[in-house]
Amino acid sequence: MLDKHQGARLANLWDDGKAAGMTEPEKLLYRSNLLGSDKRITNYGGGNTSAKVMEKDPLTGEIVEVLWVKGSGGDVGTIKMDGFSTLYMDKLRALKGIYRGVEFEDEMVGYLPHCTFNLNPRAASIDTPLHAYVPKPHVDHMHPDAIIAIAASKNSRELTSKIFGDEIGWLPWKRPGYELGLWLEKLCQENPDARGVVLESHGLFTWGDTAKEAYETTIEIINRAIAWFETENTGPAFGGRSKPVLAAADRAAIAKKLMPVIRGLISAGESKVGHFDDSQAVLDFVTSTSLEPLAALGTSCPDHFLRTKIRPLVVDFDPAQPDVGNTLAGLPEAIATYRADYAAYYERCKRADSPAMRDPNAVVYLVPGVGMITFAKDKATARISAEFYVNAINVMRGASGVSTYVGLPEQEAFDIEYWLLEEAKLQRMPKPKSLAGRIALVTGGAGGIGKATANRLMQEGACVVLADIDETALEAAQTELSTRYGKDFVRSVNMNVTSEAAVESGFGDALLAFGGLDILVSNAGLATSAAVEDTTLALWNKNMDILATGYFLVSREAFRIFRNQKAGGNVVFVASKNGLAASPGASAYCTAKAAEIHLARCLALEGASAQIRVNVVNPDAVLRGSKIWTGEWKEQRAAAYKMDVDELEAHYRERSMLKLSVFPEDIAEAIYFLASDMSAKSTGNIVNVDAGNAQSFTR
Ligand SMILES: [Zn+2]
Repeated sequence: MLDKHQGARLANLWDDGKAAGMTEPEKLLYRSNLLGSDKRITNYGGGNTSAKVMEKDPLTGEIVEVLWVKGSGGDVGTIKMDGFSTLYMDKLRALKGIYRGVEFEDEMVGYLPHCTFNLNPRAASIDTPLHAYVPKPHVDHMHPDAIIAIAASKNSRELTSKIFGDEIGWLPWKRPGYELGLWLEKLCQENPDARGVVLESHGLFTWGDTAKEAYETTIEIINRAIAWFETENTGPAFGGRSKPVLAAADRAAIAKKLMPVIRGLISAGESKVGHFDDSQAVLDFVTSTSLEPLAALGTSCPDHFLRTKIRPLVVDFDPAQPDVGNTLAGLPEAIATYRADYAAYYERCKRADSPAMRDPNAVVYLVPGVGMITFAKDKATARISAEFYVNAINVMRGASGVSTYVGLPEQEAFDIEYWLLEEAKLQRMPKPKSLAGRIALVTGGAGGIGKATANRLMQEGACVVLADIDETALEAAQTELSTRYGKDFVRSVNMNVTSEAAVESGFGDALLAFGGLDILVSNAGLATSAAVEDTTLALWNKNMDILATGYFLVSREAFRIFRNQKAGGNVVFVASKNGLAASPGASAYCTAKAAEIHLARCLALEGASAQIRVNVVNPDAVLRGSKIWTGEWKEQRAAAYKMDVDELEAHYRERSMLKLSVFPEDIAEAIYFLASDMSAKSTGNIVNVDAGNAQSFTR
């Protein structure tokens, strides 16, 4: 049987067979990807790696020393060769001659592009001097939880020497930059046998003469820290449990209630997307006696608080006596207080040239006994913020078990958060897309119009929940869209829109997945055809169930969420030309479609005071990709017009005023218009997308 501690150790994944024959840059890439594959070694996007390589200078043909180092942005786990910047070492060394001292260290960043080797377009990161000035060929800089736990302990210097002796040095907190590079160089010169260094409140540097040696040293040092914590930290986590953990279903139920309300309260500046995490590490923290005092101290590693803000908001909820109503009622004040505290922090710490205050809302919301909710501008950022806070929890757990955990001093945290170089990076970010941060649910999402709509909304940055009754088509649609736009943007729920319970649970899943709802596209449908005397009650009811009742049920659920969220809302019905124009032999279908259109008008009237807009798109004869237009209905229509099924598309095209075929993408475009702010002043409207049909002109 495996020792339970064995699982906590990092495995040495270096494979000599694989590495044989690799060039030095290839070995650097290999080592980087191995290190980044485990979040215990470094957080997403955190840390960097480098190698100093002898290469032929394309200008002179001479052999020169080149620094290959992870460039600005990116993640060591997924970096590719083009993620590294390359710089002349002799030029980097020469920069020392123009360095004017620590108060001018930021200007050194501007000189880095002048050191570029071989016209490499990858921008060098702020951490470049840290790698350049360590006088070793291979250098790793990681943010391992176990090392940051040492680095964030009050007596971190003493702990470092206790655990590692002279092998690992220690440097006090210093913002990463040119000066820290010089500190590292000095440490190496004074301690030629050191294999690495712990940076207070930050992370780890390790090095080696070969890529393999650097990698193995990194793994070994982290494993020694993990092992040390295992023997030292034998007491209960965070001083023990003081609150009960709720059952998984109850945790989810509470998160679904809290998320849209929080979202509504913090989305005034920009729409936000949520993420819920109730993993064991989170639950240990949010049920502990130390929750409030530790949360108040804030996170330590700069990477952590850049993503999570300096501190989280602990939601007032008592899992021993759950009263969600009370918690919801208290949220506006709790959030206002957090914002006021953040503004006060900004005012206390700001400097003459600081950028303007950014969004003062919390990113991380800790709910005792329930878990952690995070909100950010998109799903990936919310999810990664949660990952970072889990890193921070691990750090606090380790540090508070062996010492006193210390957060970064407030002014240092502020100087990183509002660093002008960081601001410049933010200013370079592309403008957000028109539906960024918006959350949509599309019924019939796996079918022709539904999938085209999801695609269109996702193209504009929206997160989409596909709801459909067809499990196989749903899976295929989700795979297709997540391949195109990324897994973070799409979820699917099996939903029969005629079932009250299925609708409620499907919308609940959407809330848990993304934290709220902005757009409902009610599109699930069917079509039948029969003379009135042949229309069975079952056929009549089927049309009414799906097209009238189904639209009512999903709208009612969306309205309930919109009202709790208090951020307006948007409903688009996909109806039909036949909701306005009668058609022979389809009375059940036409009547149900008319009911749908009138429901939209009633809802537009009811929702207006809450900024909920409701509009209708009327397609006609969208054959391609439609599930309605397969099988019986197509044959029945063809029979009604006395023609072959293959002739239908041409028939409808010729029948239209514009003589054009109508495709799912055409309907999706109209839905996007109505779902976006482009139509902000329209409600109760109908847009026909039918290539022109005088019968269905609105009046
Ligand atoms: Zn770092």
